[in-house]
Amino acid sequence: MKGKVVLLGAGPGDPGLLTLRGRELLQAADTVVYDRLVSPELLELAPQARKIDVGKEQGRHPVPQEAINQILLEEAGKGGLVLRLKGGDPYLFGRGGEEAAYLEERGVSCREVPGVTSALAALASAGIPATYRGLSNSVHIITGHTRDNGALEIDFPALSRAGGTLIFLMAVSTMKAVTGGLLSAGMNPATPAAVVERGTCPGQRRITGTLATIGDLAEGVESPAILAVGEVCRLALGLAPLSGRTAVITRPAGRGADLAGALRQEGAGVFSLPCLELRPLVPGPLPLEGPGWLVLTSPESAARLFVLLEEQGLDARALGRMKLAVTGSGTGAELSRHGIRPDCWPEQWGGGALAQALLPRVKPEEPVWLLGASRLSPALPEALSAAGVSWKAIPLYETLPCCRPTEEVRSLLERGGADWVIFASGSAVEGFAAGFPELSPERFTAVCAGASAQAAAQTRGWRILPASSPSAADILDAIRP
Ligand code: SAH
Repeated sequence: MKGKVVLLGAGPGDPGLLTLRGRELLQAADTVVYDRLVSPELLELAPQARKIDVGKEQGRHPVPQEAINQILLEEAGKGGLVLRLKGGDPYLFGRGGEEAAYLEERGVSCREVPGVTSALAALASAGIPATYRGLSNSVHIITGHTRDNGALEIDFPALSRAGGTLIFLMAVSTMKAVTGGLLSAGMNPATPAAVVERGTCPGQRRITGTLATIGDLAEGVESPAILAVGEVCRLALGLAPLSGRTAVITRPAGRGADLAGALRQEGAGVFSLPCLELRPLVPGPLPLEGPGWLVLTSPESAARLFVLLEEQGLDARALGRMKLAVTGSGTGAELSRHGIRPDCWPEQWGGGALAQALLPRVKPEEPVWLLGASRLSPALPEALSAAGVSWKAIPLYETLPCCRPTEEVRSLLERGGADWVIFASGSAVEGFAAGFPELSPERFTAVCAGASAQAAAQTRGWRILPASSPSAADILDAIRP
């Protein structure tokens, strides 16, 4: 057989918990065969690969295991690298071992690359260490899945004697049968217990109680979730400041990864809902002769400038006779990526601050060109005009409001599950408002960077948290408790 299969652990849900080896493999894969619990962001690491969804949604028609095996065999037959991407660790439940054995019997080379298992990571992300000296010195990971006849195959007396931390996977629908089994086997009803729903993912919930109460307290919890029983469940350690909170980012597709990363670092769940689209414009010849100032008013305009240069067979050296100014840290960072240090980079974000920094430095013979969206925010042009500096705008792209929420984001917002929706422009506010005309403003708080976003949110009567810039640091400052 020509091709080979790698069973790759995708981790518990947060895409940041993929291994480095996993990333390498995704970038090299020819085919990715993936499950329901795999984050879409991981699939984006493999744009080159053919993707086959064999997600086993409970209740809906699952792809039977035999069919999955067959798909793997067929794909391997085509040669190349087939990645079997499985939630958590492939060899912990989820039938990874069976897939490996099936392939091996048929002469297909199959390797396993471990992943971070949800059993431990979901628990940890809810502040519960699996073991703790003096409280628990063993961990047992058990499936709450029933056999075809509906019976649980769990040795409850053995487990209740074993003590330690008991972690049940696939036990949402059988939770009361599991806790009932432990109670009947004589386990102390006051033993602490916890359910962690969507561990490490947006919308994560932690519910704590005791063996006797957890079944009722966790009514309404949906898969994926784990049930843990043991003394460690009374702990809540190192919970990140935004743990359990959820943010929706409205930046254009492909932007906002730094913000998402920073929010996740603080423990928040993050959904991406692009609410504006950038459409590139083709300007006339760029003023590169100098002397003069090119003012880049957004990271997008900096990125677009280099695309335009490249299209003309030029590179950063073509800017050598111009002076460059940027409105904020994101734009400055984009320029730095191209090896250029802006001549004027104000400490504070925004047109007003830039005007203050720029005005004393512009010489009379230096024209000022404002590069950015077709609809520029007025602060900078107004300040320049007021100071008698002549300027000209060169639109590099237009921003179009848009909003195409997935079912998941729609239901999150409608049930009030998002704490913050983050906007960096009036267009994004418009896009969001058009996408959710019926949404009650009570359901979320709009985090608005910049005057245009704030004004647009204000006219709609939304609850607003102003951020002093769209940088990840300033957004975090605005929302941190
Ligand atoms: N191989 C996987 C487990 C597969 S079984 C792993 O190592 O994690 C699927 C079960 O895992 C779910 O029913 C649920 O109990 C658990 N699970 C998976 N992802 C989870 C998450 N993000 N939060 C809580 N439980 C999760």
